[in-house]
Amino acid sequence: MSSEIASTAPPEKDVPTEPESARAVARRQLNRAAAFVDIDPNVVERLADPKAVHEVTVPIERDDGTVETYTGYRAQHNSVRGPHKGGLRFHPGVSREECIGLAMWMTWKCAVMDLPFGGAKGGVVVDPKELSPDEKERLTRRFTEELRPVIGPNTDIPAPDMGTDAQTMAWIMDAYSMQEGETRPGVVTGKPPVVGGSYGRDEAPGRSVAIVARKALEYYDRPLGETTVAVQGFGSVGANAARLLDSWGADVVAVSDVNGAVYDPDGLDIETIPTHEEEPEAVTRQDGEVIDNEALLGLDVDLLAPCAVGNVITADNVDEVRADIVVEGANGPTTFEADAALAARDVPVLPDVLANAGGVTVSYFEWLQDINRRAWSLERVNEELDAEMEKAWAAVRDAYERTPEATWRDAAYIVALERLSEAHEARGLWP
Ligand code: NAD
Repeated sequence: MSSEIASTAPPEKDVPTEPESARAVARRQLNRAAAFVDIDPNVVERLADPKAVHEVTVPIERDDGTVETYTGYRAQHNSVRGPHKGGLRFHPGVSREECIGLAMWMTWKCAVMDLPFGGAKGGVVVDPKELSPDEKERLTRRFTEELRPVIGPNTDIPAPDMGTDAQTMAWIMDAYSMQEGETRPGVVTGKPPVVGGSYGRDEAPGRSVAIVARKALEYYDRPLGETTVAVQGFGSVGANAARLLDSWGADVVAVSDVNGAVYDPDGLDIETIPTHEEEPEAVTRQDGEVIDNEALLGLDVDLLAPCAVGNVITADNVDEVRADIVVEGANGPTTFEADAALAARDVPVLPDVLANAGGVTVSYFEWLQDINRRAWSLERVNEELDAEMEKAWAAVRDAYERTPEATWRDAAYIVALERLSEAHEARGLWP
């Protein structure tokens, strides 16, 4: 199905001039989307705040024998559709407000994908690069112990995020299991396959970004083989998305890491560029013109996929963005005001809650495998992911088409809000 490129939501009058906290952005997006849906305002009221935010102090012994304490959080937003689900970050920028906002996005993401989970997010305020591997392990185990009363396979299931990885998840599973007296692989996802992790989990968010990009291009009658793509961030999400789009025939002309971007208007030899995991921050050492990350965002390409960090497309640089379509691989790469500006210019923005939802979807598959004690093949994981993305795309596209004035982000939120609202109405308010 094709249509002119039109997402004509009017910009709001009271947009702020500074990027807001993730929580404030998530609330604004909720209120904006709620206006499109026939939803009980009491349900919106309940969705505007988290169910609980746990703050813990995490003391660890450093390698030199001194004790240092860190602050950790776990925000649990909503569990009307099932246990809480969401990542754990080790990052100096972790904050209560950020965890709440990201937990809200996880609620919408799980609902858009129709997964039986609600949103959560957490982390520790720490720069993991300043910890030795032993210190990182001690921090992870102690943080797990502090969170143990509020996490579990049926209550809240963490996953990797910035600064954490499969090894971190294996430590969490071990620390939790040791105290529970039995091996409980379902307490976290994103583990190594040897301890109940799923094949295809690492590639999944990038895979879903590529699938949503392909769907959007089809929708707007753009042949994939004639499409130029710029990808910001060449980590787990960006590299997998770039490689898949390249293998499907798109011309990936620019990719970047934190140091800058490499650009070749004729298309990069994408398979030869090492990912963040294979060789950290190696992008700018490759053949091709080196440009900075701002210049990448302003390239005249068909499709731009910001896959690095949040708040990169802002009021300050949105006028420079020349891509025809934006697909969000990172969480929250477009600020509320930049989103409104892109909508005013009819530039479709395929939102994070749909585009990178392959990660949480394969996390759900991992949880199913853990509970059933039966591993799936990579082929099965990818087939099931493709099918789930197809269903979610169709639901969001239908909401987009039946809702005049809605952007693609609004459409994804409409799908999520309708499902959450039905669940809240069916369950009622206790007591
Ligand atoms: P990663 O650590 O594997 O890679 C991040 C990449 O971005 C690296 O190439 C890094 O050099 C680059 N980068 C960092 N800061 C940058 C900056 N300021 N400007 C440009 N590039 C920068 O991370 P990832 O797992 O690929 O995650 C990327 C984003 O996707 C994050 O927003 C994350 O929350 C989101 N996300 C990740 C997953 C997942 O399961 N990995 C799932 C959904 C969403």
